[in-house]
This record gives sequence, C-alpha cells and structure tokens, in this order.
Amino acid sequence: MSLQLNRRQWLKTSAIAAAGLIVSRNYTACQRKDALSRLSLRGEEPIRLGNNESPYGISDGARQAIISSIDKSNRYPHGSYSQLKELIAERENVSAENIILGAGSTEVMTALIHVYGTQGSILVGDPTYFDFIIYASRARCPLQQVPLNDNFEHDLPAMEKRIDRDTRLIYICNPNNPTGSITPGEKLHLFCERASEKALVVVDEAYHEYVEDRAYASMIDLSREEKNVIVTRTFSKVFGLAGLRVGYGIARPDIIKELERMERNFAPVAWLSLMAAIASYKDPQFPRVVKQKNREVKSYLYGELEKLNLAYVPSHTNFVLFKVNQDSRKMAKDFERRSILIRPFEFKGQYWIRVSLGTMEEMKTFISVLKEIA
Ligand code: PLP
Repeated sequence: MSLQLNRRQWLKTSAIAAAGLIVSRNYTACQRKDALSRLSLRGEEPIRLGNNESPYGISDGARQAIISSIDKSNRYPHGSYSQLKELIAERENVSAENIILGAGSTEVMTALIHVYGTQGSILVGDPTYFDFIIYASRARCPLQQVPLNDNFEHDLPAMEKRIDRDTRLIYICNPNNPTGSITPGEKLHLFCERASEKALVVVDEAYHEYVEDRAYASMIDLSREEKNVIVTRTFSKVFGLAGLRVGYGIARPDIIKELERMERNFAPVAWLSLMAAIASYKDPQFPRVVKQKNREVKSYLYGELEKLNLAYVPSHTNFVLFKVNQDSRKMAKDFERRSILIRPFEFKGQYWIRVSLGTMEEMKTFISVLKEIA
C-alpha cells in the first residue's frame, strides 16, 4: 500500500508536527555513529541501512584513479580543483566560476548556514534532511518549519507565506530526505523564482541522479540564470564516494565568492577524492548499473512491505520510508541488536522507519528481521 494521507488525517497530525520537529529527537547523527562504534567494538560488521549509502562500491575507473594517483599524495591538490570544476561546468552547462567544491555537500551547506543563515532565520520543510536542521541549530539559527503537504511535497504556498524580513535562507530538499518524495519541478521553479527575490534558496539535490519521474526538475537553470538560488549535489550517493567526501554547489559567481571567502580550509577536497570524483564522472556505465540494481531492490521492498500491510511513501531515491505500528526507536534498537542499522522517525503523530536500499541479499535479511519484530 503506497501512502498518501487524506486531509482529515493530515490535520489531525499536523498540530503535532507544527509543535516542532519531532524527527527522531533522540536519534541524532552522534547516536548513529555510536551505534556503528558499538557494533564495530563487538567486532561485528553491521548491515548499514541507516545512512543512504550506496552498497555497490565505487567504479573501476575511480579505483584505478586512486591507485595511480596515490604517489602524488604529498602535494596539495590545488590544480586539480579546476579540473573537476570544469567537468561539472561542462555537464551542467555553467561556468567554473559558478561552482564551489566541498568535503561532501555537507560542507557547502554548513558554509551557507554560517554565511547566510546566521544573519537571520532559515525556512525549512518538516520533516526534512535532519542533519541540515542539526547544523542550523548548532549555528543557533532560528528555524521556521513548515509541514510537508499531504503528498509529502514541500508545501510551497505555506512556505511562501512564512517568508518574512528575517528569512535569509530557504532550504528545499528535493527529493526530500527522509520521505524520498519529490516536489514537482514546475511548482518549485515558480516558487524559487519568487522566493529568491527575498532570500537565498538552497535546493539540495543529493538524490538527483536516482529520479526518473518527469514531474521532477533540477533547479540548476535558475542558478544559471543568475537567480538567488544555489543547488547542492554530491558524489556520495549514486557514485558511491561517501567515504571520500566530495560535493559541490552551483550558484551565481558572487554567491560562490562569498562562500569561498569564508572557507576555513584552503583545500577542502582531498587529492585522492578529487581524482576519484573526476574518474567517476567519466564513467557513465557505473551509475546506470547502480540505478538498475536500486530499482530492483526497491520493487522487491515495496512488494514485501505490501505483503506485511505496511504503508510506504513512494521513493525517488535509494531509501524508503514506511509506517510502523509501534515505537520505531525501539524497533531500531531491536534491529541494531541483530546488527542492522536503520533510522527511526516520528512525525504526523506516527512512527516511521527509513531504510536505505542495500543489496538484494541485505534487503532479504532486513525483511526477515522485520517480519520477526513488526
Ligand atoms: N543532503 C541530503 C538530503 C542527504 O541525505 C545527505 C546525506 O545523506 C547529504 C546531503 C550529505 O551528503 P554529503 O555526503 O555530500 O555531505
């Protein structure tokens, strides 16, 4: 059963959502790392279905690039920044001046929070990418949270109404994490055009490469048109470079310069990471294979959830969010005891589990444990 809440159910639960972010309050990024360290201390290699990593490794090209570049690791990577920027620029039809690289897109987002967010407040959906909320809270930025609509899209009219004189940053995660849902491109485009006259709009497209729905659109054309919009992307997902930390942002050159001016690291992306990213970009076959496997695993998972009568949100990413009828934090602990890491959530007055799409074998193990404990 794929999921869409009706208006009545939504109203019943939105009061709770409006009271603030309830997304796994007790399950922050630190606790996630703790779960991993606990398991590795016990010498167990867990099944990692909690961080939306790709389970398919890196491309052969990336591996070769790392091996053959290793002896140059004694040098700072300066010259190679422009090589990666040029490649991205060519693919996205922008110029290298429109691009900032970071140690993961997280670094670009934290820079945005520090440079823009701290000047006022940040407007976000609810629920949305939890780590963004954590970083904004750590920077003591006031957050305005607007619940997603019944279709798990960003509620753009409601967000627009919430923009005020203090709003400096508007964060749109598309596809959204943890729901895996998309906000349709046409509506988002109009929203970004209007909203960007009042504040900088950040569109986080970390899962962009997975999306196959025609209703989706990237907002890069707005950065290209010199609007007040920045798009962030990452090599952590479909390219499998999460551990190498490479991400980027695309925006007007003056926004890029402002972010770079505040950079706390003169060389944010490591040499081997750069080489791996460049090689990954040159290998179109690898992401194709990853996406195909992701599709197959997703359809297996949907089938199993349907058999268990557990409603899920149709996903455009490498993870799926589904409803459960018991405390999802407790379930996460039960999974952890069996060396499986997943993410529990609580919003709209409901418990949810977000599971990353691992290999078919990992998902079969996940389903057998779910059958035991659900
Ligand atoms: N944005 C979203 C929506 C994510 O889900 C993640 C990671 O899970 C990131 C950004 C972080 O990506 P990176 O590894 O590039 O820092």
